Amino acid sequence: MSIKVLLVEDERDLADFVTRGLREEGYVVEAAADGVAGWHFLKRGQWDAVILDWGLPGTDGLTLLTQFRAKDKTTPVLLLTARDAVPDRVRGLDSGADDYLCKPFAFDELLARIRALVRRPSQSTARTIEQLGVTVDLETHRAERDGAKLELTAKELALLVFFMRHPRQVLTRNRIYEQVWDERYDGISNTLEVHVKELRRKLEAHGPRLIHTLRGQGYRFESADEDEDAR
Ligand code: CA
Repeated sequence: MSIKVLLVEDERDLADFVTRGLREEGYVVEAAADGVAGWHFLKRGQWDAVILDWGLPGTDGLTLLTQFRAKDKTTPVLLLTARDAVPDRVRGLDSGADDYLCKPFAFDELLARIRALVRRPSQSTARTIEQLGVTVDLETHRAERDGAKLELTAKELALLVFFMRHPRQVLTRNRIYEQVWDERYDGISNTLEVHVKELRRKLEAHGPRLIHTLRGQGYRFESADEDEDAR
């Protein structure tokens, strides 16, 4: 059965490019070019995934998302954004987006995200995410490990949420930088290492290591047991 994707994007070239690309991959795509048309399509259809631009004429993407989530809590939504600040991303996720992608992006990256969203069970849009004994309430930003509260900065929280949304996957430095900092890794900066170190310190006050370094590759979020099994 074909997968139905709604694209709400006002930049025509980008919309055409994404629509064409997804159709070539076998998706059924409908496109709306502004917030009003977007809302019409959102209300009407049963979508397997929605790609929603944040900045739209008419009604902006975040408002649409909030309206949509009031009636549909399960359809996965990928938010497209030119906004790079972490508080904006947290706001996007708080409003019910399942993932976000910063412009400009590679089509392959978009495709990978859509595949992951369509695969993902629908409880992923819950307000709370839980992985390996760690819980984050996306509404209140309260983070806990096995019931013990974690005092995290906004960046540490964004980093932790990113790890939790991609458990057991190899996450390259570049991908983490792009998603959490919206920058390409310059190969020199140790910003990520510093944040990982702090996050580990806070997590490991309440249990074994969850963020594992893979030499020359990046990081993986998993329990110590799984780590040993993999060897
Ligand atoms: Ca736009």
